[in-house]
Amino acid sequence: MPTPKAPVRGRFAPTPSGRLHLGNASTALLAWLQIRSAGGTMLLRMEDLDRARCKPAYSASLIEDMHWLGLDWDEGPDVGGEYGPYVQSERGAFYREAILRLQRDGWLYSCYCSRAELLLMANAPHGLEQEGNPRRCGCLYLSPEEQETRAEEKTPSLHFAMPDREIFFADGVAGARSFPSAGDFAVQRADGIIGYQLAVVVDDIAMGVTDVFRGWDLLDSTPRQLALFDALGAEPPRYAHGPLWLGEDGKRLSKRHGSVALSELREQGVASERIVGLIAWATGLIPEPEPCKPQDLIGQWTPGRIAQEAIVLPGNWMDRLR
Ligand code: GLU
Repeated sequence: MPTPKAPVRGRFAPTPSGRLHLGNASTALLAWLQIRSAGGTMLLRMEDLDRARCKPAYSASLIEDMHWLGLDWDEGPDVGGEYGPYVQSERGAFYREAILRLQRDGWLYSCYCSRAELLLMANAPHGLEQEGNPRRCGCLYLSPEEQETRAEEKTPSLHFAMPDREIFFADGVAGARSFPSAGDFAVQRADGIIGYQLAVVVDDIAMGVTDVFRGWDLLDSTPRQLALFDALGAEPPRYAHGPLWLGEDGKRLSKRHGSVALSELREQGVASERIVGLIAWATGLIPEPEPCKPQDLIGQWTPGRIAQEAIVLPGNWMDRLR
């Protein structure tokens, strides 16, 4: 008898530090399509750990813009669900528990380096490698006495020691990838803030996520997250990374590229179907930028067609929408 497939669960996990623009709307649409095409459950999770940059007003506008685009979700901050809360700033207990487990199992070490020192090391030539890991500082090797002395001057951050092995994975869009050395990283900063990598993995485990579709910028976070899944004794999801959107100057989309926020386009009277069509066309799903609804694209979901290269918005792209 064939083994029954685990039900598919996917998520869109925006950081509410700005308005939804064409780039993150593209990731949201593709993540939604992947899950809806598989008849799965879609989650929305707000990743607001960076309290200085994130604002509740942005969370509200992200939700409004996604609804306007025609996207929906089965679990999330506004609709609830049994795996909540769906807002990272309310999930501290989960992260603390994971940190205790990682500490108990010997995966973490206290790091006393300053930001500048860590940056210097990350950019150092390979001749300066320590113990084969170019991004591991000497803090891992401090004796308990040395640690005590350092702790008098500085509260440490907690770093995860990456296993010294190459990490391979098959990405749904990017194909086979291998990372020889991803470098250690902070799971908790000196000021107590939980690191992105840890929070995402703890939440993906707790929320039963089977499929992650996200932006290309996170492709090289994946080996670190896979190592965390392993250390926490959990099965990782399948990953797929969709193209980033750039302006004509090759920079990530922002205000300087004109009206790229969905709310602005809406105010200008652009129909949501036009945006959906533009995204589906630019990412490679449909041959022409025909207006359509997300629902219409469910039959068109072919991850193999999705562009690997970044999408560069031509200066006159608004003309295509009129
Ligand atoms: N919150 C992250 C971002 O907005 C995405 C995290 C993820 O999808 O793993 O870039």
